[in-house]
Parts: sequence; C-alpha cells; structure tokens
Amino acid sequence: MKKSEDKKITELANGVLIGDRRKLARAITVAESTRADDRNLAENLISKLLPHTGGSVRIGISGVPGVGKSTFIEALGLHIIGMGKTLSVLAIDPSSPNTGGSIMGDKTRMPELSRNKNAFIRPTPSAGTLGGIARYTREVLLLVEAAGVDVILVETVGVGQSEFAVANLVDMFILLVAPGGGDDLQGIKKGIVELADLIIVTKTDGDLTPAAERAQADYSTALNLFKPTNSGWKPKVISCSAHTGRGIPESWDAIQSCYDTLYSSGSLLMRRKEQAKKEMWCEISENILEDIKSDKNVTSILPELESMVEKGTMSPTEAARNLLLKYKKNA
Ligand code: GDP
Repeated sequence: MKKSEDKKITELANGVLIGDRRKLARAITVAESTRADDRNLAENLISKLLPHTGGSVRIGISGVPGVGKSTFIEALGLHIIGMGKTLSVLAIDPSSPNTGGSIMGDKTRMPELSRNKNAFIRPTPSAGTLGGIARYTREVLLLVEAAGVDVILVETVGVGQSEFAVANLVDMFILLVAPGGGDDLQGIKKGIVELADLIIVTKTDGDLTPAAERAQADYSTALNLFKPTNSGWKPKVISCSAHTGRGIPESWDAIQSCYDTLYSSGSLLMRRKEQAKKEMWCEISENILEDIKSDKNVTSILPELESMVEKGTMSPTEAARNLLLKYKKNA
C-alpha cells in the first residue's frame, strides 16, 4: 500500500472511530464507489475497523410500500433516541429508482429523525444489483457500527428477494403489516412471515383499530403454526400506531427482549458467524463468475456452447463442464 493511501485510511478510520459524521459520510461514499482504487481503499478501511464492529443491535424492517415503514421508523427512531441511544437507518431497495419503487431511507420520508444529531440516515444507493447493494449495505453497516451507533435499522421493501438479503445482514427481522381483511395473510409470502421475529400491525388507530386488532389475532394464530426455532425466541405480534404512539414503546421492548434472548442463547453470535461465512461464499461465487465471463478463452467458445444448448444438441451439464475445463486449463 502506498504511503499516501495508508495515511488516508488512518485518517478516515480515526474519524469514524470518534463518530465524526463527515468522516463517516466520506467513508461510506468510498464504500459506495465501484472504482477499483476506491474499492481497495474501502476494503482496507473495513479491515482496519473490523475489530471495532459488532456492538450494534442490527434490525431489519420490511413491509410493502404504503404499510407505514417510514412513519413507523420515524416514531420508533425518536423513541430509541429519547432513551439516550444513537441510531442509523440504512436501506436496501433494488426496485428504486428505475421501476418507480419508493425511495427508501430517504431523508424527506423521516423529516424529524433526519434533523436529529443522534440519527444517521443513509438512502439506498441508486443503482446496482441486489447482490451489489447487499454487499454495500453490509460495509456501511460495519462502518456505522465502528462509529459507535447503538441501533441500526435496515429498511427494505417487502416485495421480493430483498428481505432475504436483509435477513442475512441483521440480528432480527421485523415485518410490518397493515390492518385489513383476511387478505392480509395471503398477500405476503409465507417465507417472509417465517423470517419475522416480530410482526407489527401498523395504523392501529381511529376506524382502523378493530381491523388492526383482528389482524394481530390472525397473525398470532398463523405464527403458532410455524415450527419453533431453537433460537429461544418465540416470534410476537404487536399492534401499533405511529400517529398516536400506541405500541411504539412495546415494539422497542420486544426488540430488546428478542435481542437479549438471542444473545444469551448464543444464537446471535452463531447467526452472525453464519452470515459472515455466507457473505464470503457470495463474494467467491460472484468473483469467480465474473472471472469466468471475462476469460478470453471462455468467451471464444461461449456463443457456440450456448447455441448448442439452445438447439438441444448438447446438454447444459455437458456445456458447463466443457466451459469449466477450458477455464481451468487456462487458469
Ligand atoms: P411506507 O411506504 O411503507 O414508508 O409508508 P409511509 O410511512 O409513507 O405511510 C403510508 C401512508 O400511511 C401515509 O399516508 C401515512 O400517513 C399513513 N400512516 C403511516 N402510519 C400510520 C399510522 O400509524 N396511522 C394511520 N392512520 N396512518 C398511518
């Protein structure tokens, strides 16, 4: 490493460690960049900060657009800050902005929180694959953690694969659902409900209160049908209103209680170890795939193999084997 680079890393690392917001923002910008020199810098910076990570409560929050995520995060976030803690909101939203998905982690969606000096809000990176965004969010999470933030909320939109990417980054997962008829349970994929450590029914106020309470009972029944996990934590359903504040302190208490249970049963540590290992394998797979696709010898036979597979004159298995043989020979 060049001396100037080393100096830059030390300066950024020291800034992050004392919680300097400008240095943290700068470090995040470096992590967000896809330029090779920035990637190198980000990797070295994260390695340096790694011993200072691990101290935050990492929480994933998901729900379909309109369910009340930003309003809930604002209310919960202010409650958390009111208890003397610091908070960060990150976001994973592969749908934005190209397909018009809601812009997650957007400061304008959480106006009070974004003005608060104890909250650090970072919007979704504007482009990239889900894998890329997930990697970037993991790095940002580690940077924010090294800066000493107590609670990290990773927001995602509940419409697809992004929940699984978020679940691989956090200690616990919260699913927000809106009050409504019996359609609720059908509208959300069962797999996502199964991921949840906590289901929170939003908008439990005014005319919506009876429907919200019914939804709470329905989800509680649904959760009872799932096999218990060996984490020691039994998922809960809470109804709340970000408008009136009903259920917000209870939501935080449940988060704490879930965290404590996972911590003392050893599941938290195990979950984090598994997540890190999984991430390593994701990186390996992505890198190898990129390497294969950019290998000249591979690209020279690729069109022919693809055409044979399309026509059915060669099986996909055989074509893959031939291609890998060619790749390995030249490796
Ligand atoms: P998001 O797309 O999931 O982030 O949802 P928003 O937080 O933007 O909320 C969507 C709509 O639901 C907005 O019109 C909010 O005012 C409304 N909303 C959010 N929380 C509550 C609540 O606690 N009670 C009621 N009645 N409406 C809410």
